[in-house]
Amino acid sequence: MKLVETDNLSGIRGRMIKDTDTFTFRCHPAVSCFNKCCRNLNFYLNPYDIIRLKQSLNIPSDAFIDNYTDIVLRPGHHFPDVLLRMADNPEKTCPFLTDGGCRVYPDRPHTCRAFPVEHGLYVDAGKNATRLVHFFRPPEFCEGQHEDTVWTLKTWEADQEAAFYNQMTAAWANVMRLFQANPFGGQGPESQKGRMAFMAAYNVDAFREFVLTSSFLQRYKIEAGLRMRIKSDDVAVFKLGMAWIKMFLFGVKTPEVKVKR
Ligand code: SF4
Ligand code: SF4
Repeated sequence: MKLVETDNLSGIRGRMIKDTDTFTFRCHPAVSCFNKCCRNLNFYLNPYDIIRLKQSLNIPSDAFIDNYTDIVLRPGHHFPDVLLRMADNPEKTCPFLTDGGCRVYPDRPHTCRAFPVEHGLYVDAGKNATRLVHFFRPPEFCEGQHEDTVWTLKTWEADQEAAFYNQMTAAWANVMRLFQANPFGGQGPESQKGRMAFMAAYNVDAFREFVLTSSFLQRYKIEAGLRMRIKSDDVAVFKLGMAWIKMFLFGVKTPEVKVKR
Protein backbone atom coordinates (compact mmCIF):
# COMPACT_ATOMS: atom_id res chain seq x y z
CA MET A 1 0.00 0.00 0.00
CA LYS A 2 1.46 3.28 -1.07
CA LEU A 3 -0.15 5.70 1.33
CA VAL A 4 -0.46 9.22 0.09
CA GLU A 5 -1.95 11.58 2.61
CA THR A 6 -4.22 14.13 1.05
CA ASP A 7 -7.00 16.48 1.92
CA ASN A 8 -7.80 17.11 -1.72
CA LEU A 9 -9.10 14.06 -3.59
CA SER A 10 -9.80 15.97 -6.78
CA GLY A 11 -6.07 16.59 -7.32
CA ILE A 12 -5.14 12.89 -7.50
CA ARG A 13 -4.53 11.17 -10.84
CA GLY A 14 -6.49 8.00 -11.65
CA ARG A 15 -10.02 6.73 -11.09
CA MET A 16 -11.23 6.64 -7.51
CA ILE A 17 -12.76 3.26 -6.70
CA LYS A 18 -15.11 2.44 -3.87
CA ASP A 19 -15.84 -0.98 -2.35
CA THR A 20 -18.53 -1.93 -4.85
CA ASP A 21 -16.80 -0.49 -7.95
CA THR A 22 -15.04 -2.78 -10.41
CA PHE A 23 -11.98 -2.56 -12.63
CA THR A 24 -10.53 -4.85 -15.30
CA PHE A 25 -6.97 -6.08 -15.20
CA ARG A 26 -4.79 -9.12 -15.89
CA CYS A 27 -1.02 -9.38 -15.94
CA HIS A 28 0.68 -12.41 -17.53
CA PRO A 29 4.00 -13.21 -19.22
CA ALA A 30 2.52 -12.88 -22.73
CA VAL A 31 1.96 -9.12 -22.49
CA SER A 32 4.52 -7.09 -24.43
CA CYS A 33 5.06 -4.84 -21.42
CA PHE A 34 6.02 -7.80 -19.20
CA ASN A 35 8.22 -6.53 -16.34
CA LYS A 36 8.35 -3.04 -17.83
CA CYS A 37 6.74 -1.76 -14.65
CA CYS A 38 9.58 -3.14 -12.46
CA ARG A 39 12.09 -0.40 -13.27
CA ASN A 40 12.90 3.19 -12.49
CA LEU A 41 10.57 3.11 -9.51
CA ASN A 42 10.38 5.58 -6.72
CA PHE A 43 8.66 3.67 -4.00
CA TYR A 44 8.83 3.58 -0.26
CA LEU A 45 9.00 0.39 1.73
CA ASN A 46 6.85 -0.07 4.81
CA PRO A 47 8.31 -1.84 7.85
CA TYR A 48 6.32 -5.00 7.06
CA ASP A 49 7.69 -4.99 3.48
CA ILE A 50 11.19 -5.07 4.97
CA ILE A 51 10.30 -7.95 7.28
CA ARG A 52 9.02 -10.04 4.37
CA LEU A 53 11.88 -9.15 2.03
CA LYS A 54 14.67 -9.83 4.53
CA GLN A 55 13.01 -13.14 5.38
CA SER A 56 12.78 -13.99 1.68
CA LEU A 57 16.47 -13.16 1.16
CA ASN A 58 17.41 -14.83 4.45
CA ILE A 59 19.44 -11.87 5.68
CA PRO A 60 19.15 -9.69 8.82
CA SER A 61 17.14 -6.47 8.62
CA ASP A 62 20.20 -4.22 8.97
CA ALA A 63 21.89 -5.95 6.01
CA PHE A 64 18.72 -5.48 3.98
CA ILE A 65 18.56 -1.77 4.83
CA ASP A 66 22.27 -1.30 4.01
CA ASN A 67 22.24 -3.22 0.74
CA TYR A 68 18.85 -2.50 -0.80
CA THR A 69 17.57 0.85 0.42
CA ASP A 70 18.22 4.55 0.75
CA ILE A 71 16.98 6.38 3.81
CA VAL A 72 15.49 9.74 2.93
CA LEU A 73 13.94 12.60 4.83
CA ARG A 74 11.26 14.20 2.69
CA PRO A 75 10.73 17.96 2.86
CA GLY A 76 8.32 18.83 5.65
CA HIS A 77 8.63 15.36 7.25
CA HIS A 78 10.12 14.66 10.67
CA PHE A 79 10.79 10.95 10.32
CA PRO A 80 12.77 9.26 7.53
CA ASP A 81 11.31 7.00 4.87
CA VAL A 82 12.98 3.98 3.34
CA LEU A 83 13.25 3.96 -0.43
CA LEU A 84 13.95 0.79 -2.42
CA ARG A 85 17.23 1.42 -4.27
CA MET A 86 17.07 0.61 -7.97
CA ALA A 87 19.98 -1.24 -9.62
CA ASP A 88 22.85 0.80 -11.01
CA ASN A 89 22.15 0.05 -14.68
CA PRO A 90 20.77 2.20 -17.53
CA GLU A 91 17.21 0.99 -17.00
CA LYS A 92 17.39 1.33 -13.20
CA THR A 93 15.71 -2.03 -12.74
CA CYS A 94 14.33 -3.23 -9.44
CA PRO A 95 17.07 -5.19 -7.63
CA PHE A 96 14.75 -8.19 -7.48
CA LEU A 97 13.94 -8.35 -11.19
CA THR A 98 15.36 -11.31 -13.12
CA ASP A 99 14.81 -12.54 -16.67
CA GLY A 100 12.23 -14.92 -15.27
CA GLY A 101 10.37 -12.22 -13.33
CA CYS A 102 10.37 -11.19 -9.70
CA ARG A 103 12.71 -13.28 -7.53
CA VAL A 104 10.90 -12.31 -4.32
CA TYR A 105 7.38 -12.66 -5.75
CA PRO A 106 5.75 -14.40 -2.73
CA ASP A 107 7.19 -11.64 -0.52
CA ARG A 108 6.96 -8.71 -2.92
CA PRO A 109 6.27 -5.30 -1.36
CA HIS A 110 2.81 -3.98 -0.77
CA THR A 111 3.05 -1.47 -3.61
CA CYS A 112 3.69 -4.31 -6.08
CA ARG A 113 0.78 -6.34 -4.70
CA ALA A 114 -1.67 -3.47 -4.89
CA PHE A 115 -0.63 -2.35 -8.38
CA PRO A 116 -2.49 -1.08 -10.44
CA VAL A 117 -4.48 0.14 -7.45
CA GLU A 118 -2.96 2.74 -5.16
CA HIS A 119 -4.22 3.53 -1.71
CA GLY A 120 -4.26 6.86 0.03
CA LEU A 121 -5.10 8.20 3.44
CA TYR A 122 -7.68 10.96 3.18
CA VAL A 123 -7.32 13.43 6.00
CA ASP A 124 -10.54 15.22 6.83
CA ALA A 125 -9.06 18.14 8.73
CA GLY A 126 -12.51 19.50 9.67
CA LYS A 127 -13.50 16.27 11.43
CA ASN A 128 -9.94 15.39 12.48
CA ALA A 129 -10.53 11.95 10.95
CA THR A 130 -8.86 9.78 8.31
CA ARG A 131 -10.15 7.17 5.90
CA LEU A 132 -8.59 5.02 3.24
CA VAL A 133 -9.27 5.87 -0.40
CA HIS A 134 -8.35 3.83 -3.47
CA PHE A 135 -7.40 4.75 -7.02
CA PHE A 136 -7.09 2.64 -10.15
CA ARG A 137 -4.17 4.14 -12.02
CA PRO A 138 -2.05 1.88 -14.18
CA PRO A 139 0.57 3.64 -16.29
CA GLU A 140 -0.37 4.16 -19.91
CA PHE A 141 1.99 1.42 -21.15
CA CYS A 142 0.37 -1.24 -18.93
CA GLU A 143 -1.51 -3.61 -21.22
CA GLY A 144 -3.09 -5.41 -18.28
CA GLN A 145 -5.72 -2.70 -17.96
CA HIS A 146 -7.16 -3.67 -21.36
CA GLU A 147 -7.75 -7.32 -20.38
CA ASP A 148 -11.25 -8.36 -19.38
CA THR A 149 -10.86 -9.99 -15.96
CA VAL A 150 -13.09 -8.07 -13.55
CA TRP A 151 -12.13 -7.25 -9.96
CA THR A 152 -13.39 -5.39 -6.93
CA LEU A 153 -11.06 -4.10 -4.23
CA LYS A 154 -11.90 -7.16 -2.10
CA THR A 155 -11.36 -9.78 -4.80
CA TRP A 156 -8.11 -8.11 -5.89
CA GLU A 157 -6.87 -7.99 -2.27
CA ALA A 158 -7.68 -11.71 -1.88
CA ASP A 159 -6.01 -12.63 -5.18
CA GLN A 160 -2.84 -10.77 -4.23
CA GLU A 161 -2.84 -12.05 -0.62
CA ALA A 162 -2.68 -8.43 0.49
CA ALA A 163 -5.06 -8.40 3.47
CA PHE A 164 -2.34 -8.65 6.12
CA TYR A 165 -0.21 -6.11 4.26
CA ASN A 166 -3.19 -3.73 4.31
CA GLN A 167 -3.52 -4.16 8.08
CA MET A 168 0.18 -3.65 8.75
CA THR A 169 0.46 -0.63 6.47
CA ALA A 170 -2.61 1.02 7.96
CA ALA A 171 -1.23 0.45 11.48
CA TRP A 172 2.12 1.97 10.46
CA ALA A 173 0.40 4.90 8.71
CA ASN A 174 -1.31 5.77 11.98
CA VAL A 175 2.07 5.87 13.74
CA MET A 176 3.62 7.91 10.92
CA ARG A 177 0.89 10.52 11.23
CA LEU A 178 2.00 11.21 14.80
CA PHE A 179 5.40 12.39 13.54
CA GLN A 180 3.73 15.48 12.07
CA ALA A 181 4.04 16.85 15.63
CA ASN A 182 7.87 16.69 15.33
CA PRO A 183 8.76 14.82 18.54
CA PHE A 184 12.50 15.59 18.11
CA GLY A 185 12.33 19.38 18.25
CA GLY A 186 15.42 21.03 16.80
CA GLN A 187 17.50 17.85 17.18
CA GLY A 188 15.79 16.12 14.28
CA PRO A 189 15.58 12.40 13.52
CA GLU A 190 19.38 12.09 13.76
CA SER A 191 19.04 12.51 17.53
CA GLN A 192 19.38 9.46 19.76
CA LYS A 193 15.60 9.30 20.17
CA GLY A 194 15.20 9.49 16.41
CA ARG A 195 17.68 6.71 15.78
CA MET A 196 16.00 4.52 18.40
CA ALA A 197 12.61 5.08 16.79
CA PHE A 198 14.00 4.26 13.35
CA MET A 199 15.40 0.99 14.70
CA ALA A 200 12.07 0.13 16.36
CA ALA A 201 10.23 0.78 13.11
CA TYR A 202 12.45 -0.63 10.39
CA ASN A 203 15.29 -2.69 11.83
CA VAL A 204 13.41 -5.52 13.45
CA ASP A 205 16.40 -7.76 14.22
CA ALA A 206 18.36 -4.95 15.87
CA PHE A 207 15.31 -3.90 17.91
CA ARG A 208 14.78 -7.49 19.10
CA GLU A 209 18.42 -7.66 20.17
CA PHE A 210 18.05 -4.34 21.99
CA VAL A 211 14.87 -5.46 23.79
CA LEU A 212 16.36 -8.78 24.87
CA THR A 213 19.85 -7.65 25.86
CA SER A 214 19.44 -4.14 27.33
CA SER A 215 17.55 -3.05 30.46
CA PHE A 216 14.37 -2.69 28.31
CA LEU A 217 12.56 -5.58 29.99
CA GLN A 218 13.37 -4.21 33.44
CA ARG A 219 12.00 -0.80 32.50
CA TYR A 220 8.91 -1.78 30.50
CA LYS A 221 6.10 -4.27 31.02
CA ILE A 222 5.17 -5.98 27.77
CA GLU A 223 1.76 -7.57 27.24
CA ALA A 224 2.19 -11.30 28.02
CA GLY A 225 1.19 -12.72 24.63
CA LEU A 226 3.45 -10.32 22.78
CA ARG A 227 6.37 -10.94 25.11
CA MET A 228 6.18 -14.68 24.47
CA ARG A 229 6.46 -14.16 20.73
CA ILE A 230 9.20 -11.56 20.40
CA LYS A 231 12.07 -14.05 20.42
CA SER A 232 10.92 -15.75 17.24
CA ASP A 233 8.21 -13.64 15.59
CA ASP A 234 9.26 -10.56 13.58
CA VAL A 235 5.70 -9.25 13.40
CA ALA A 236 5.44 -9.34 17.21
CA VAL A 237 8.67 -7.31 17.42
CA PHE A 238 7.28 -4.79 14.92
CA LYS A 239 4.02 -4.49 16.89
CA LEU A 240 6.04 -3.89 20.05
CA GLY A 241 8.14 -1.32 18.15
CA MET A 242 5.05 0.61 17.03
CA ALA A 243 3.56 0.58 20.54
CA TRP A 244 6.88 1.67 22.07
CA ILE A 245 7.28 4.55 19.60
CA LYS A 246 3.77 5.76 20.45
CA MET A 247 4.48 5.62 24.18
CA PHE A 248 8.14 6.72 24.20
CA LEU A 249 7.86 9.63 21.77
CA PHE A 250 4.24 10.72 22.04
CA GLY A 251 3.06 9.61 25.50
CA VAL A 252 0.22 7.53 24.01
CA LYS A 253 -1.00 4.77 26.35
CA THR A 254 -1.02 1.33 24.70
CA PRO A 255 -1.99 -2.12 26.01
CA GLU A 256 1.18 -3.62 24.50
CA VAL A 257 3.81 -1.80 26.54
CA LYS A 258 3.80 0.19 29.79
CA VAL A 259 6.47 1.77 31.97
CA LYS A 260 7.05 -0.37 35.08
CA ARG A 261 6.26 1.37 38.35
S1 SF4 B 1 2.93 -3.07 -17.05
FE1 SF4 B 1 0.99 -3.97 -16.36
S2 SF4 B 1 0.59 -5.73 -17.70
FE2 SF4 B 1 2.72 -5.05 -18.04
S3 SF4 B 1 3.89 -6.41 -16.70
FE3 SF4 B 1 3.47 -4.54 -15.53
S4 SF4 B 1 1.54 -4.97 -14.43
FE4 SF4 B 1 1.76 -6.52 -16.04
S1 SF4 C 1 9.76 -6.44 -6.04
FE1 SF4 C 1 9.29 -7.78 -7.73
S2 SF4 C 1 7.27 -7.13 -8.45
FE2 SF4 C 1 8.08 -5.46 -7.18
S3 SF4 C 1 9.11 -4.08 -8.59
FE3 SF4 C 1 10.65 -5.54 -7.85
S4 SF4 C 1 10.71 -7.19 -9.36
FE4 SF4 C 1 8.80 -6.01 -9.68
